[in-house]
Amino acid sequence: MPDTDAPATKYNRVMLKISGEALMGDQSYGLHPPTVERIAREVKSVHDLGVEICMVIGGGNIFRGLQGSAQGMERTTADYMGMLATVMNALAMQSALEGLNIHTRVISAITMNEVAEPYIRRRAVRHLEKKRVCVFAAGTGNPFFTTDTAATLRANEMRCEAIFKGTKVDGVYDSDPVRNPDAKRYDRVTYDEVLQKRLGVMDASAIALARENNLPIIVFSLDEPGGFRGILAGQGTYTEVHGGPPGTA
Ligand code: UDP
Repeated sequence: MPDTDAPATKYNRVMLKISGEALMGDQSYGLHPPTVERIAREVKSVHDLGVEICMVIGGGNIFRGLQGSAQGMERTTADYMGMLATVMNALAMQSALEGLNIHTRVISAITMNEVAEPYIRRRAVRHLEKKRVCVFAAGTGNPFFTTDTAATLRANEMRCEAIFKGTKVDGVYDSDPVRNPDAKRYDRVTYDEVLQKRLGVMDASAIALARENNLPIIVFSLDEPGGFRGILAGQGTYTEVHGGPPGTA
């Protein structure tokens, strides 16, 4: 049902990227169901605006390939384990969203027909048109990539208007705001500045892919209740990563 008191948004179709760690709550590992449910409610409040939603969730709360390879595991095997971790997170999100009556499809880059749909672009587009949330799982399906790159790839394929990267802080800072109280937040910053200053928004291949396709990346705090919906309506604080000349507002 469309939300009649809804704030206006210029977006029709967006990608929400969150890390696996966002699902941990205060734990140091794994899934914290109340946190998954809280994020699902944030997604629902945007879905209620009639916006079509794609999601990519990382796997870092369960397993990261680099971590495994540092412990002597073969890198590609460790990366496949990381991709499988993202499938578990996607299923947890699907369950939480469906608990809120939002039709959700988990679409996996690695075929596993018993648990998720295979990735077929045109089929995924059709789901979005029918207002189903699409959670893209298993990253790009290839080792040596990250879910930031997967989110950028799928956002381009699905023709999303922007990637919304939900983090613990309300944007991109010139240094770590947790450690440095004088850290300055950017309202807007270019892809090139992010790469040159190593601002740590997303990994370099994701930023380069977004730059090539002029896909804006909006970094916002996922801890702010109602934050995702507000940001879509242009409210609240966030940083937009864009392609214009440096420092342009
Ligand atoms: N991964 C991969 N290819 C991809 C996406 C992910 O190999 O296209 C693996 C990689 O090992 C990575 C892990 O999956 O460490 C979990 O993803 P990521 O680190 O991006 O999760 P996040 O940090 O966002 O929780």
